[in-house]
Amino acid sequence: MATVKGELIQNLAAEKPVCHNKISIVGSGSVGMACAFSILLKGLTDELALVDTSEDKLKGETMDLQHGSLFVKMPSIVCSKDFQVTANSRLVIITAGARQEKGETRLDLVQRNVAIFKAVIASIVQYSPNCKLIVVSNPVDILTYVAWKLSSFPKNRIIGSGCNLDTARFRFLIGQKLGIHSESCHGWVLGEHGDSSVPVWSGVNVAGVPLKDVNAAIGTEADPEQWKAIHREVIASAYEIIKRKGYTSWAIGLSVADLAESILKNLRRTHPVSTIIKGLYGINEEVFLSIPCVLGENGITDFIKIKLTPEEEAALRKSADTLWGIQKDLKF
Ligand code: NAD
Repeated sequence: MATVKGELIQNLAAEKPVCHNKISIVGSGSVGMACAFSILLKGLTDELALVDTSEDKLKGETMDLQHGSLFVKMPSIVCSKDFQVTANSRLVIITAGARQEKGETRLDLVQRNVAIFKAVIASIVQYSPNCKLIVVSNPVDILTYVAWKLSSFPKNRIIGSGCNLDTARFRFLIGQKLGIHSESCHGWVLGEHGDSSVPVWSGVNVAGVPLKDVNAAIGTEADPEQWKAIHREVIASAYEIIKRKGYTSWAIGLSVADLAESILKNLRRTHPVSTIIKGLYGINEEVFLSIPCVLGENGITDFIKIKLTPEEEAALRKSADTLWGIQKDLKF
């Protein structure tokens, strides 16, 4: 029987599906979907694969995205709880993870997420052995280490989203205080993502003018303007957002899409992401912390040797000790 398709379209050549810029996202929760949405809006991928254990939610989220196809040049979006759907990804983003339960210690949560990562990482390695991996799930620095150990990938292909979001919040708040867009307010938050992150006040500048030259006490208790409060706000903001809306999603999604752009377009931009820093700043253990890294198609190929004050270095070492204290007891 003649079909409309057969009458309308004459095929000229058989096509083999080839994905050059495939991205997969593991975990279709609030963070995974914000990453997906941000990546789609930037047009970074020619196939987006979503994986989750919760099939109904996964299918619903995928259909909802697909129905926006008319308004954005959407690539193919596929989903399954089977990791085969992720095959041949250039980049895999992990947002899957258990949420902390009432009364649960951080170590218990880490151990539960290690169990999830064991299954997830083995499947990623099986289907995309050459991919770059961005870890977003928390505690992100420890889980980046776990992903590195479980995958046996070279360190350049393991990237923790780390302080990318903390730095974005820092620059936003500086921008708010100065009345200048955050893109023009330069500064870095390094170290552990979250509570013990380190703001590098010595490097904060606008148009190359260090704010430290204008206010020598900036970032210290002695500062009459108390710029230090901005970093406290950076740390508090995740708790504040979670208290108000239950989770954070948009900024982390946008910040991960920014990392994906540097990788897929080989931009070689610098980002504060989590990488193994053994041997730097007097740290001798295999811990992952954020430093300014050069990101391109090979993942993290270089880092910037940022000069820290003795106090900043000590803060970094303290974070490393805390992380190692947890990591050394992990069972793989
Ligand atoms: P969520 O609970 O909404 O989503 C997690 C998803 O993971 C769920 O849909 C769940 O079904 C799925 N999942 C669990 N086990 C899985 C498995 N084995 N395979 C596939 N999928 C699996 O949580 P969320 O709000 O999206 O947060 C996700 C993670 O991101 C959390 O660990 C959170 O703390 C972290 N996070 C990190 C940052 C950062 O800056 N690094 C920022 C925000 C959130």
